[in-house]
Amino acid sequence: MSLNRPLGKTERTEHVMDLLRLLGEAQEVSSLSRALRAVAEVASLLTESTAAGVFVADEETGVIRLVASHGLGPEVAGDVGVLAVRTAPWLVDPDPRFVTGDDGAAQLTGAPAPFCSGSFWFPLVQGGKTVGHLVVAGLSNGPPDSTGLEFLRLTGIHATTLIRSVRAQTALNLRVEALTTLAEVGQTLASTLDLDRVLRLIVDSVARLSGATACSIMLLDEKREELRIRMAIGVPEEVVRTAVRKIGEGISGRVAQSGEPIFLRNIADATGGVTGCNPDRYRSPSLVSVPLKSRGQVIGVLNVNDKKDSDFTAEDVNLITLFANQAAIAIDNARLHDQLWQASVTDGLTQTFVHAHFQRRLKELVAAAAAGDGPLAVIMVDIDFFKKVNDHFGHPVGDMVLQGVAALLRRAVRSSDIVARYGGEEFVLVLSNVPYRVVLSVAERLRKAVEAASFGARENPVKITASFGVAVLPTDASEGDALIRLADENLYASKRGGRNRVTSSDEVQRLAQAELAAMPPAAPTGQVRAD
Ligand code: GH3
Ligand code: MG
Ligand code: MG
Repeated sequence: MSLNRPLGKTERTEHVMDLLRLLGEAQEVSSLSRALRAVAEVASLLTESTAAGVFVADEETGVIRLVASHGLGPEVAGDVGVLAVRTAPWLVDPDPRFVTGDDGAAQLTGAPAPFCSGSFWFPLVQGGKTVGHLVVAGLSNGPPDSTGLEFLRLTGIHATTLIRSVRAQTALNLRVEALTTLAEVGQTLASTLDLDRVLRLIVDSVARLSGATACSIMLLDEKREELRIRMAIGVPEEVVRTAVRKIGEGISGRVAQSGEPIFLRNIADATGGVTGCNPDRYRSPSLVSVPLKSRGQVIGVLNVNDKKDSDFTAEDVNLITLFANQAAIAIDNARLHDQLWQASVTDGLTQTFVHAHFQRRLKELVAAAAAGDGPLAVIMVDIDFFKKVNDHFGHPVGDMVLQGVAALLRRAVRSSDIVARYGGEEFVLVLSNVPYRVVLSVAERLRKAVEAASFGARENPVKITASFGVAVLPTDASEGDALIRLADENLYASKRGGRNRVTSSDEVQRLAQAELAAMPPAAPTGQVRAD
């Protein structure tokens, strides 16, 4: 049925009936927007205009959005029509306004063209506030007469009621979705120790629920000086890898320093007081940055920006804060788990790995070596005549010597190498993917370092030596247990041979010699460091 022609009485009655029916049915957002379309249609019909639309104002963000229309061409129909109150301040007035082509286009940037000229903007007022506009367009005879105005007033009342419902429904939907997602995050948190997974779920959810296209979680380093991105969505890969914010610097740095959230409606307005902030980096003017707090201390910042088509609202900030709290719990849990894991694999006295962890790692490294990694070496170390140290200096000094030797071993190899306490005063090292010559030179370097060092108290230094046994996979053995047994046998050969020495198989020595012989003459021989 066309509504852009004069209608008979019956048709008009039918239309009003349609409107009333739709209003009655308007229980969901989808049917509400249909009902608003009907309002626009009826307004257009009653005022004999070519097009009509219902705009809804967001008081907080100052944005007016076209939510339903009738009579727009297909090119302007659909979900277009977002304009800012600041370009047309009269939009908040409770008085209607007739807009001519002269002033309309400039003031109503963002509104579909028919609403910019020969249009009548009838404010929808609720509780003294303008919550939107019922707009009729294409009025060739100027503003509506008193009857037309009364039609608009009555139609507008229905529109206002519907807008209130739309708002309540949208807010409710968002709240339900937010709570559902929060519950999901909570469940994931409880069921996984995978921090990445939880944080990814949090940035995804925050972005989706707040309508932002960029969201990142930055964490403070151990010294509490710098923030780096730990998880992000909508942020270029390069920025994720390299972005660093000093505490106090930029928006994130300020949030980390103060422990208070920052909610900017317009970045450009705030950069004067915020150093290190570049408003050009942001696609939309409003952003939210909230602290992540654990046990009263800031551990990071959750940043949300680039909201798709409006500014963030106070509701968004509340939502983001809820998720920030979850992120802080997840990070806290992961750190606690990490600490417990560290404690479970670390020997309390020497801070080297415990025997069980060495066995686990050796298994993994043997598998990797079998899959094609280079030679894998096990070096067993046993302190010579350690019993005498205890007997002579006492057990506490013996403990200090063990700590000193452990520290020396750890310092002397790469961080990727494994240093573990095998038993009482025995240590074991696992070097993966190393040439034979390096294995032997490392063992010899360790032997000399132990011999040269003084342990215990400075005023009463303890001099010791240690014996070494080396075994290398695949030359000496093809699996872990045999590798340990051979290293142990070689260690006892060192003991039998007079202690303070390194023993390895003939074949390993031959391969190391061959490697040295193949090296260019300029390279140092026998002193090649593993690290
Ligand atoms: P060798 O050159 O043959 O290895 O002689 P050794 O005296 O080192 O050999 P042995 O294995 O007989 O003695 C090891 C000693 O290490 C015995 C034990 O009291 C001591 N020991 C083991 N664990 C600890 C520890 O945690 N602290 C201290 N202070 N001593 C320890
Ligand atoms: Mg010993
Ligand atoms: Mg021993």
